[in-house]
Amino acid sequence: FFHTTESFFCLTFFCLRCCFVHARSCPLRLSLDKLRDVSSRLHKGLVQGLGKHSHHRAAVKMLPTFVRATPDGTEKGDFLALDLGGTNFRVLHVRVLQAEQKVVKMDSQICVVPKDMMTGATQQLFDHIASCLGDFIASQELKGQTLPLGFTFSFPCEQKEIDKSILIRWTKGFNCPGVEGRDVVTLLRDAVRRRGDYDIGSVAMVNDTVGTMMSCGYKDQSCEIGMIIGTGTNACYMEEMKNVKRVEGEDGRMCINTEWGGFGDDGSLRDIQTEFDQMVDKTSINPGVHIFEKMISGMYLGEIVRLLLLRLSEEKLLFKGQKSEVLQTPEIFQTKFISEIEEEDTGLDNARRILTQLDLQWDEADVRVVRLVCDTVSSRSARLCAAALATIANKMRLNRGLDRLQTTVGVDGTVYRKHPNFSEELQLTVRLLAPECSITFLVSEDGSGKGAAMVTAVAQRLALQSRL
Ligand code: BGC
Ligand code: MG
Repeated sequence: FFHTTESFFCLTFFCLRCCFVHARSCPLRLSLDKLRDVSSRLHKGLVQGLGKHSHHRAAVKMLPTFVRATPDGTEKGDFLALDLGGTNFRVLHVRVLQAEQKVVKMDSQICVVPKDMMTGATQQLFDHIASCLGDFIASQELKGQTLPLGFTFSFPCEQKEIDKSILIRWTKGFNCPGVEGRDVVTLLRDAVRRRGDYDIGSVAMVNDTVGTMMSCGYKDQSCEIGMIIGTGTNACYMEEMKNVKRVEGEDGRMCINTEWGGFGDDGSLRDIQTEFDQMVDKTSINPGVHIFEKMISGMYLGEIVRLLLLRLSEEKLLFKGQKSEVLQTPEIFQTKFISEIEEEDTGLDNARRILTQLDLQWDEADVRVVRLVCDTVSSRSARLCAAALATIANKMRLNRGLDRLQTTVGVDGTVYRKHPNFSEELQLTVRLLAPECSITFLVSEDGSGKGAAMVTAVAQRLALQSRL
């Protein structure tokens, strides 16, 4: 008990000091009022991103996806899928079975993308993709069958059509020069052509959020939001066409890839960015870009915790104030440690093990402070995501003139799936921030694979219908 109290004092002291310096509430503990404020700023951002003339300047890009319908249960067939931009690069063979209303993964293969390829020459990356796909097609004995392909490419792209998708910018760990501004489908087709030993059919470009929404949509046709909280973070939702000013047509809906990770890139989150967030941004490969994502997603959470621990030890509030070189090593504190340390029963033991592995001189009070730091950082992330999701749900409700919106969110991502209480905190906070919305959360089953096939299948169905 004594240790716990002491640690609470340490962290509270630290928070109080923050309050003092910032002359506001503790910047790491965002109140509901603050979250409401963040939500109303994001709402403005969404509207700006949708506007015909304002979208050029918008931090939240609100990209049309040319996905105009969720599955209706009549889709079927065999598809190939590519998945680039998450934890692994994968190729898949997927079958949509209409009779059983099921999407089946026939087979899949993980291909490693070496780290230097993630920042190397364009042609090298796409040749690698084409060669992984070629090997897979050969191993599946699918050569000679030009199957339609869904390409889950989890980066912000300006889509002109379902099969024309121009990379706006790389995010997460990727940074191949020369791809930004180019059509990813052309790059893929060119690479397939260079190989010359197989062919692909029509291509549908899919953001992972869209795949996630669509993979849940076969089961639950009210799934109209997709959300990812993994290496990066983002969400998409079905918007009224009349609000999508950049695409002709007033009728029906279109899925919009919000790219909410870019929220704050215009400085609108400066008041809640801490010195730790600024540091993470400054030392990233894309400074100034994806500010919101850098406060939330798996690629950055471990770094925020590391910087906080470093600061606390410099302030002599941790590890007896020993100067710790370990904590000055970027990426030494992995995001998965946060989940392990916050585990209800085994968390403290995990913390002891991790701190020992890191070669830090800890005592019992330190263990508890470290756990509190992890909790503070992951809670903030969950609450910020909740504010963003509530903004979308509220917008959808008002769009439709409803007193009450009932909807389903398809969710995926390592942070959401693996952290012991992230999803709980997120859901609780969304309920508080969007009390007029009843939201069901559905963890997606392989949105980037099966979902991409589903997008391709729906596109095929719509193309067929329009020809009839
Ligand atoms: C990308 C999004 C993607 C998200 C989740 C972000 O960095 O910009 O397109 O959906 O990560 O993978
Ligand atoms: Mg329109």
